[in-house]
Amino acid sequence: MVHKVTFIPGDGIGPEVARAAQRTLEAMGAQFQWDIAIIGSQAQDMFGTPLPESALESIKRNRVAIKGPVTTPIGSGFRSVNVALRKKLALYACLRPCKTYPGVHTPYKSVDIVVVRENTEDLYCGIEFAKDGTETAKLLELVVQATGEKINKDSAVSLKVISQTASRRIVKFAFEYARKNGRKKVTAIHKANILKFSDGLFLDTAREVAKGYPDIEFADMVVDATCMQLVRRPQQFDVLVLPNFYGDLISDLCAGLVGGLGLAPGANIGDDIAIFEPTHGSAPRYAGKNKVNPIATMLSGVMMLRYLGEGDSADRLEKAIMEVIAEGKNVTYDLKLDRGDSTAAGTSQVADAVIEKLKPESRAK
Ligand code: NAD
Repeated sequence: MVHKVTFIPGDGIGPEVARAAQRTLEAMGAQFQWDIAIIGSQAQDMFGTPLPESALESIKRNRVAIKGPVTTPIGSGFRSVNVALRKKLALYACLRPCKTYPGVHTPYKSVDIVVVRENTEDLYCGIEFAKDGTETAKLLELVVQATGEKINKDSAVSLKVISQTASRRIVKFAFEYARKNGRKKVTAIHKANILKFSDGLFLDTAREVAKGYPDIEFADMVVDATCMQLVRRPQQFDVLVLPNFYGDLISDLCAGLVGGLGLAPGANIGDDIAIFEPTHGSAPRYAGKNKVNPIATMLSGVMMLRYLGEGDSADRLEKAIMEVIAEGKNVTYDLKLDRGDSTAAGTSQVADAVIEKLKPESRAK
């Protein structure tokens, strides 16, 4: 079967890791028809917008995309294209599996955590009020009148918005994922002891949804305690479900437990569209150097194959990647014990090594 997939190279290290993942997918035998879409600063220069309608149309048409990371200018310039994509396409669930593969240098063995992050609201809803803005002054005045709280006039404000609708949707997603994938436990992460209304609503909703899944254990934990417990004993966790902001932080923490961002894949999933991309960003200082690890993007490709119903191909590709990691020869600097190791492979060599493992004569060994 031919799968039509939107291919978004991204920028920074994006094109290198995306191309490496694309090559391994093409080596699988599964047929792909790639529809290339440019977003980010290159699209800004070419089309006058970082997120052209043609890119959105391509994703809507194909319903599946694989994407390299895209840079977000800090402070000024356009807002995050990544956030905009997730919002515009209603990709409300961010799925980030983190597991330790044999051969990875990490003190944490047998970690197998799936982070389910809400993708559309919370502090990343994009509603912000700049210092000294007219609207900011009105908002501050309103808040002072309504609550009697004193707020410094030179404040900037970012809204943390948590709705029952989005909370219910993401917690259900986490439980459904757990059920379909033989997972035993879902833990909701929050700070409801302090943020009584926003995180309190998330927690109450999670408890309510959990009642519909008596076959799966449910627990909740405050986010600061979660950080400590993750570092002390990550093996106790199974599926984590979190509001957007904590999800962002905790998924990087979990990536660190299992060997770093170079090994952390991800997917942004809605009801009928999914974009597969690594957890990491565009690491601009490494751009064009054929240096960074493409495995996070390759593993995102594995997730995409499973989503497309190509389970056998997904297993084969994951196995080939695991063999390359376990051998430790054709891996990038971040997987070497000494990061300055001159024998570290480049991005494209890792793809070559994985493709070699996929060849029938290699599989027969
Ligand atoms: P980053 O993930 O790009 O890089 C942080 C560091 O992690 C790098 O300097 C490097 O040491 C390491 N690293 C990242 N990817 C690696 C890989 N594949 N192999 C080996 N090491 C790797 O984070 P950042 O510097 O905070 O962000 C850079 C840009 O990326 C920002 O503009 C940010 O907004 C953007 N970003 C985009 C996405 C996305 O497109 N989904 C996600 C996160 C960040």
